[in-house]
Amino acid sequence: MPTLNHYTESIELSAEWLRKALPLMSRQAAALHPVSYAVWYGYVAQRDPALRAAVDEALARDGRLDEATTLALYQRFVAGFDAEAARRVADGMQHLLAGMADTAQAAGDSTARYGDSLARLSQALSTESDRAGDAVSAVMADTQQMRQALQSLQDRLAANQREIDQLRDEVHRARRDAVVDPLTGLANRRGFDEALDQCLSIPVDPAPDIWLLALDIDHFKQVNDTWGHGFGDQVLRAVAQLVRALAPPEATVARIGGEEFAVLLPAATQPQALALAEQVRQRVSAARIKRHDSGETLARVTLSVGLSRWRAGESAQALVERADQALYASKQGGRDRVTELPGG
Ligand code: GH3
Ligand code: MG
Ligand code: MG
Repeated sequence: MPTLNHYTESIELSAEWLRKALPLMSRQAAALHPVSYAVWYGYVAQRDPALRAAVDEALARDGRLDEATTLALYQRFVAGFDAEAARRVADGMQHLLAGMADTAQAAGDSTARYGDSLARLSQALSTESDRAGDAVSAVMADTQQMRQALQSLQDRLAANQREIDQLRDEVHRARRDAVVDPLTGLANRRGFDEALDQCLSIPVDPAPDIWLLALDIDHFKQVNDTWGHGFGDQVLRAVAQLVRALAPPEATVARIGGEEFAVLLPAATQPQALALAEQVRQRVSAARIKRHDSGETLARVTLSVGLSRWRAGESAQALVERADQALYASKQGGRDRVTELPGG
């Protein structure tokens, strides 16, 4: 449902946001395209405190917003909103129409039965009295008309229903696109955040241990610089595939940043979590990724991993931060290693 109705500002107010957004936008590394504008419009209009916080955080970290960060912010805070709202509306309409179609169907069936019994009555009466027969014929003609009207209503409802089904599929696709990383097919940051929130909010008895692995490719900038960005993308896809293949089916595997991945294990023991982290690290460092174009092999790629175990009552953010700290310790320790902070 391509609607702009969550932008309800007047021309004057939106012009004010435009004046404020433009200078901010032009200070960034990203080009001045509509995606960029949507992010900065949201920022100056203070539409969503989470968007503002995420932009401020990215600015504090990187100084300027580049294309990738801008797009990620857009997908996370702007695009997802419409898809989610549209899904709710489409689901509601579908429910309503299905109910109406059932009612029309039932009405159609009962008028059909009514018509049939009148026909029988007419047959019986026609032999006895012409006048009674005429009256019944008139009623039958009305009934026939009513049936036709109901039939056309049913047809229209069925057509609407098909349209709604199509719309709902489209919206579901848009919704899926909002949580999937197109390069690797893994969950993106938004998909990961949603999976993590859900995992932490559903009580399971007895509570299993929840583990988080944060993974970051070592010296990835050098990979890009040496072999080109296209090959860098190929490496990202290969690493994504490998992590997905090694992780258990119930795990959420996500690409949460440029060359950063996360694995959420909703139920794992400490030895299982550690073994997976080690296995991923070893398999990546043993892999040799071929260039599609020349078939040349690349010197090895390694990655660093940090592990954290969820502590009951802890926020998702705190869990992610501890995994990041462990990852940072792996980097500091010389990369190509796994670190679990003391106490998980
Ligand atoms: P470290 O070992 O400390 O992690 O070093 P690094 O070079 O991996 O880390 P840094 O954060 O300096 O560089 C990350 C690089 O990842 C920079 C950026 O160009 C690249 N990158 C981010 N997203 C993508 C992408 O989608 N494709 C490609 N090819 N490169 C990307
Ligand atoms: Mg990184
Ligand atoms: Mg890196």
